[in-house]
Amino acid sequence: MDVPPVRHGDGMTSTPPSPRPRPGTASVSSTTTYETCPRRYRFAHVDRVPVDRAEAPVAWRMGTVVHAGLEAGFRHHQAVGTSTDLDHAVPAACAAVRTAWVDESMPDDPAELARAEATVADALRATRLAPTDILGVEHRFRAETDDGVTVTGISDLVVRTGPGAIEIRDHKVTRSVRTAEQLHGDLQLGIYGWLARRTWPGTDHVVVAHHYPLTRELVRVDLDDAWVDAAVTRLRTVAHRAAADTEFTPTPGDHCRWCVYRAHCDAAAT
Ligand code: SF4
Repeated sequence: MDVPPVRHGDGMTSTPPSPRPRPGTASVSSTTTYETCPRRYRFAHVDRVPVDRAEAPVAWRMGTVVHAGLEAGFRHHQAVGTSTDLDHAVPAACAAVRTAWVDESMPDDPAELARAEATVADALRATRLAPTDILGVEHRFRAETDDGVTVTGISDLVVRTGPGAIEIRDHKVTRSVRTAEQLHGDLQLGIYGWLARRTWPGTDHVVVAHHYPLTRELVRVDLDDAWVDAAVTRLRTVAHRAAADTEFTPTPGDHCRWCVYRAHCDAAAT
């Protein structure tokens, strides 16, 4: 909509500057997508071009399958668990793995499917967790920054670790285990920490963690204010840039190899 001119007392008119575009909703995914390639951001978050999951790399889809199994296992434990043992949740988790295998158009490979089920079963059996300490499974966060950016995120698992203390866990289906030092400053964990503090204001101790089901490792780091501030500033800055962008200039590179919008893009690196 055009902005109407303003008539001043001296008879002159002027056109006020257009209102700054509202930044809308932002997530870690939208932030890193824009940083990687603004055109990819436009495909994903502006035009919302549908993606054929079969075009996504198999390793990504395997990650989705394992996540689905762990989600079902932890949900089952939260609903009916009676101790810190999660062995009872394995059948529900493996059923979810098999469903996700089909949904994700995974290859017809029984050995790989069995490997996915075993990964999920082993990870659950290695976990000790009281069902009443599970605050959220695939927990959907939503909170607004002071300058109007709605931040959303889905955390794999949120657990209570003590009075006023919570731990946010993100499952990573990879053998490339990062150290606590490497995790410090991670954008995703910093944003999840900020969202958790907004969601549970009484929390005075937040630990963020990567859970590696393939190696059964849990790498924990204490969240600190500087980390959270840097993460939120980065997300807000990108959200405002994306809201004001009208060109979405492509930035082709190695990342084009994994871009699910390659078929739609005339700028893809070859
Ligand atoms: S193919 Fe490359 S240039 Fe095109 S949208 Fe994807 S990442 Fe950007």
